[in-house]
Amino acid sequence: PNAYLAGLPTTIFTVMSQLAAEHGAINLGQGFPDTEGPRELIEAAAAALGDDRNQYAPLTGLPELREAVARGNRESYGLAVDPATEVVVTSGATEAIAACLMAVVEPGDEVVLIEPLYDTYLPVLRMIGATPRCVRLHPPGWSLDPAELRAAFGPRTKAILLNSPMNPSGKVFTREELGLIAGLVTAFDAYAICDEVYEHLTFGVKHIPLMTLPEMRERCMRIGSAGKSFSLTGWKVGYVTAPAPLAALVAKAHQILVFSTAPNLQRAVAVGLGLGESYFRALAEELRARRDLLADGLHGLGFPTLPADGSYFLVTDISRHANGRDDVTFCRDMVRQAGVAAIPVSAFYAPDGPEPPRNLIRFAFCKRHDVLQDALIRLRAAF
Ligand code: PMP
Ligand code: GLN
Repeated sequence: PNAYLAGLPTTIFTVMSQLAAEHGAINLGQGFPDTEGPRELIEAAAAALGDDRNQYAPLTGLPELREAVARGNRESYGLAVDPATEVVVTSGATEAIAACLMAVVEPGDEVVLIEPLYDTYLPVLRMIGATPRCVRLHPPGWSLDPAELRAAFGPRTKAILLNSPMNPSGKVFTREELGLIAGLVTAFDAYAICDEVYEHLTFGVKHIPLMTLPEMRERCMRIGSAGKSFSLTGWKVGYVTAPAPLAALVAKAHQILVFSTAPNLQRAVAVGLGLGESYFRALAEELRARRDLLADGLHGLGFPTLPADGSYFLVTDISRHANGRDDVTFCRDMVRQAGVAAIPVSAFYAPDGPEPPRNLIRFAFCKRHDVLQDALIRLRAAF
């Protein structure tokens, strides 16, 4: 047996969702919306099942979806993308992250990561045999220290894996920060894998793909997720935009990992991308209202929230209520005693790194208003 996998704990998202279910808690832990995505997509997926869309799709994705992804790149960011050679459809962003890393990283290479980080990054790097070099953002503002970022790059750096808008922090990297990253990527002749699954979920700020910065077009692989863009997380349809030579390698990785992604879902996602900017604006506005509802409620209860300009997530400081407990214990107790589930932020740090913050927990606000209100009522009763 593979000792590393044997020792890898079950993901915190599953652990907390199970605990929430056991205790009848409101689940503000795992990040998934509790309302379905647009009817148009669900009907298109269902119709496609009755329309001979049940055999293997082309390896790199249905042409109509690749064209829709290319169009989306142009409409949202002014990026000119060739749908035939520069787009690869994957089974979720999770597969895309692994495929992009496999496309450029070899055993012994170093990859720069920014903590707090999403929970698949480190295990995938480890399975590829690469070495992570982690840089920490500094709460409460989630600031990035340029000198610390610079120090993570070296002669063995092959890539940086960047998540913006970011899970769990909700940080949306600024143009200035992206410029800093772009400069280092160029200086060290590296690649950037850009996990942009929350690209359309920003509040009052605009998401800037690293790929749009000077000299970055040829070095970036940009990852999107229909799960997040259309509130259909169970569908697991993702897409990578990359220059043709890199896209060809991503396609090879996809070939050995999955080969092809459910064709009816691909067709429906193509319909979704056709909904255009107005759909994404409405989605972001709706989420913003939910973030504000939860943030106001948490503030009122003595849980100060950290800035969050994007994603599904809001991080709060538990210090006032912790009574010496760390974030993990606090989250477990909160499920049992308050009936509300959240995720400890320390779970988003490398397990073998320096001590992570232990005073922060993450709430998912991609839930109905009445559910968020109920959660706040429960928290009010408990704290
Ligand atoms: N990256 C980040 C930062 C995420 O939060 C998620 C969501 N769960 C994913 C990747 C995975 O996306 P998908 O469900 O499309 O695989
Ligand atoms: N990305 C989601 C989150 O951060 C969960 C995805 C999963 O459960 N694997 O909550």
